[in-house]
Amino acid sequence: MPTLHPRLASVFDELVRRNPGEVEFHQAAREVLESLGPVVVTHPQYAEAEIIRRICEPERQIIFRVPWVDDSGQVQLNRGFRVEFNSALGPYKGGLRFHPSVYLGTIKFLGFEQIFKNSLSGMPIGGGKGGADFDPKGRSDAEVMRFCQSFMTELYRHIGEYTDVPAGDIGVGGRELGYLFGQYKRITNRYESGVLTGKGLTWGGSQVRTEATGYGTVYFAQEMLKARDRALEGSTAVISGSGNVAIYAAEKVYDLGGTVVAMSDSSGYIVDPTGVDIHLVKEIKERRRGRISEYTDERGSGARFIRGGSVWDVPCDLALPCATQNELSAKAAASLIGNGVLAVVEGANMPCTPDAVRAFQEAGVAFGPGKAANAGGVATSALEMQQNASRDSWNFAYTEERLHVIMRDIHERCATTAEEYGAPGNYVVGANISGFTKVADAMLAFGVI
Ligand code: NDP
Repeated sequence: MPTLHPRLASVFDELVRRNPGEVEFHQAAREVLESLGPVVVTHPQYAEAEIIRRICEPERQIIFRVPWVDDSGQVQLNRGFRVEFNSALGPYKGGLRFHPSVYLGTIKFLGFEQIFKNSLSGMPIGGGKGGADFDPKGRSDAEVMRFCQSFMTELYRHIGEYTDVPAGDIGVGGRELGYLFGQYKRITNRYESGVLTGKGLTWGGSQVRTEATGYGTVYFAQEMLKARDRALEGSTAVISGSGNVAIYAAEKVYDLGGTVVAMSDSSGYIVDPTGVDIHLVKEIKERRRGRISEYTDERGSGARFIRGGSVWDVPCDLALPCATQNELSAKAAASLIGNGVLAVVEGANMPCTPDAVRAFQEAGVAFGPGKAANAGGVATSALEMQQNASRDSWNFAYTEERLHVIMRDIHERCATTAEEYGAPGNYVVGANISGFTKVADAMLAFGVI
């Protein structure tokens, strides 16, 4: 593990002490702090004003009870969270995750990442994240609705278009956002479109928001490849996950002339050497809420389903981890490197373990960190807020072009900052320093608050 500048080491020690057991939060914070060594030297004012310590402490953390009644009349109980991490650049902004593994440490890691991602996006939004340890899998629509209504019955008092603007994440898509927005509207008696993003197109949503994270990740990958005189066209891609981010990443890979040869879900992965049929994946995962294993029965051809195992054993030019945190280990990295991968670009948040990232960097594989590569989702959420504020709605082509420009700008910002701080080609350093300094400057301007 790289050593930290002494000033940053004491911040990290304090963070671990104050947030015991929250290992994902420790991991995310450590990665940022490892990049900030040169900044402490060139900008002593940040350390003097304790900006780095303050940025590591959320402005507000809300934990609440979410009781609801299942279809058999049984009372169920979950725990809800909203961590309002940093509002230096705008209202707290970040998604809601519904997954049984969610605990405070998950939400804090995601909220922390979100501060720098949102800053990098160039949009006026702060960082936050929320969710619950609720598992929507296997639940009826009516159960999901009752859960969402109960969740919002507490959350509504903490959010607002100028305060905190949630969106979707794992387990929270269009259906859940509909129930959440409906309950917010009912309780407050206000049609406050800008309070949530990822809304349906007929009730204040933006074109391209559904596609934005996946499309943006692939646009970012395209810029990374271009910087190395390589092209996405003609390349093969492996994508983990088959949810929102994975599906639209796959769609954009095809748009740009590549082929997706494997995708996965938490039960296993499919390999389709002739190219994964993304329409079939959409039908299974989006419309039927089914399992990726159903793909092979319907596709025929040479497609195979492998239960368990690692999707990263499938050879490819481009690896796009789009499922969940720490899904790509050092062992998986070694397999990808051995098979000649050119670039690894994170569609998910923190999907690569720190030793996997080091392995890619040491092997000269281009590595795009999630806080830069997947920022297209939140950036398009900010475009949704912009449309809501002006009571306007833009068409698909215009909105997608805005996203494309934003992703090119983020790539440029990361590349230039990395070079400026003596680490050319290191997008981790570029993203962390560029994201951090903008927030830090705003915090300095506000004084000690
Ligand atoms: P979805 O719920 O739509 O899809 C998640 C996918 O990942 C599913 O295929 C799921 O498989 C798989 N998955 C989830 N948890 C695990 C696990 N523990 N092990 C293996 N596979 C798992 O979520 P999204 O596509 O929205 O999010 C994916 C990632 O992208 C997350 O890291 C999220 O934070 C990040 N992200 C999302 C954004 C968005 O706009 N949605 C924006 C920026 C980042 P299964 O169905 O079997 O559970």
